[in-house]
Amino acid sequence: MVIITSSVYSQNLKFSHQDTLRGTITKERIWWDLTYYHLDVRVNPVDSTLRGVNTIRYKVLTPFQVMQIDLQEPMQVQNIVQNGKELSFRRDGSAYFITLSETQTPGDNKEITVQFAGKPQVSKRPPWSGGLSWKRDANGNPFVVTTCQGDGASLWWPCKDHQYDEPDSMLMTVTVPESLTDVSNGRLRNVTTNPDRTKTFTWFVTNPINNYCVNLNIADYVHFGEKYQGEKGQLDCDYWVVSYNLEKAKAQFKEVPRMLEALEYWFGPYPFYEDSYKLVEVPYPGMEHQSSVTYGNDYKNGYKGTDESNTGWGFKFDFIIVHESAHEWFGNSITTKDVADMWVHEAFGAYSETLFLDYHFGKKASSEYVIGTRTKIRNDRPIIGPYDVNTEGSHDMYYKGANMLHTLRQVVNDDEKFRQMIRGLSKTFYHQTVTTKQVENYLAEVSGKDLTSFFNQYLRDTRIPVFEYKISKKQLSYRWNNCVAGFNMPLKISVDEGVIWLNPTTEWQTIKARKGAKITTDVNFYISKKDLAQKQ
Ligand SMILES: [Zn+2]
Repeated sequence: MVIITSSVYSQNLKFSHQDTLRGTITKERIWWDLTYYHLDVRVNPVDSTLRGVNTIRYKVLTPFQVMQIDLQEPMQVQNIVQNGKELSFRRDGSAYFITLSETQTPGDNKEITVQFAGKPQVSKRPPWSGGLSWKRDANGNPFVVTTCQGDGASLWWPCKDHQYDEPDSMLMTVTVPESLTDVSNGRLRNVTTNPDRTKTFTWFVTNPINNYCVNLNIADYVHFGEKYQGEKGQLDCDYWVVSYNLEKAKAQFKEVPRMLEALEYWFGPYPFYEDSYKLVEVPYPGMEHQSSVTYGNDYKNGYKGTDESNTGWGFKFDFIIVHESAHEWFGNSITTKDVADMWVHEAFGAYSETLFLDYHFGKKASSEYVIGTRTKIRNDRPIIGPYDVNTEGSHDMYYKGANMLHTLRQVVNDDEKFRQMIRGLSKTFYHQTVTTKQVENYLAEVSGKDLTSFFNQYLRDTRIPVFEYKISKKQLSYRWNNCVAGFNMPLKISVDEGVIWLNPTTEWQTIKARKGAKITTDVNFYISKKDLAQKQ
């Protein structure tokens, strides 16, 4: 997702029974493996309603007779059917507990259909608050879009609303008024015109997709496209914009091949060649909808006219095109099982801005940018949030996360090795859902370093480690303070003009140094420093 820019961001850290139902891999979820959705939905802008059927296919892993499917008020499930037989269910808030009458035998592939209808919640502030947006374009045509990261896809359609399990593929058939076009995820298979002055758009996603990325974008769209020769061959890039923005889009979307070139270099091949890459204009800033990245950045560089770093470098690229597309690798291909670990999406998303600058403008530009974003860090709460209650950690997952990765890059001290570490992550966890531990362990293993205290410091604590030092009697004494137990990150410093590496721990160590020597720590490390010889 994009970064919130006002004080609206706040979080209630009291959790309800509903948060637990939504955020836990409950016993009614764990026994079945989601394999396929066919979401068939009819959208009516006249009365702001949706109705449709979701066909859910799954594989039985362990025998169980109750299945949890989620759909939030005021949407209603009308009936649920398995093999022609209507099933009974019990509703507990947003969770429907369905009693299956057929025996569920491990290994069996089964299907249920869930019929639903209603007037879904309207988003108050897309994309940060979920729901439907029933807007109009400048010509007065309906402009209808969905956003649901955080609140959940069950805001508008019935599904297994938890990040740990994704369907292997998904079909969407979306029926809209005949003057409009729906752009959803994956590839457009066909368009049919119906007798009731509607059209049905059929989209198919051949790869696993996370729920909150499933989206409807319905407008008076026009299309243009190009082919990009990437690491895995030819990638179809398709652009859908509101008719009167075609010329602006043709100019601004020249950013796409530049983005793909930089991000494939750092992250490895774009992870959804089969489903194509798309940019789709929307009436909100943007969102990483899988293979249909949504765009509302006014066809300008920066982020809504600003530079996140205040260094000027943020105006050298279109923030939405770079940041949201980076989530195709970190967020969509690799998805965290629990949103508490969302830093895996947002730290890499935010760091992609730095890596883009590094690729096109060099190391100095990228370093200035990431350091510039430190003013956005709050150190209010740990980056990792509480588990099993559908709750993210601190907003610091963005730029503290990016600065943590930048610091890790300094520790690795070999850019090519660091690049291979990130590409290795993309490859190893391709199209998987993961935990933070898997990511931490992978990075530790391939870097050959014990990063336990490093990640504990930056992900699970709010303190910024302080490098304390003093020179006396021709010795430089130094240690880490204000840090987690066992913090031992190596640090690059300059003593006068000479660059050296130290291995500080929380215990004092000494090296020889001239009286009055000038000590500077490398600015690329996200740390503080304190000269104890100076009277503070
Ligand atoms: Zn993001």
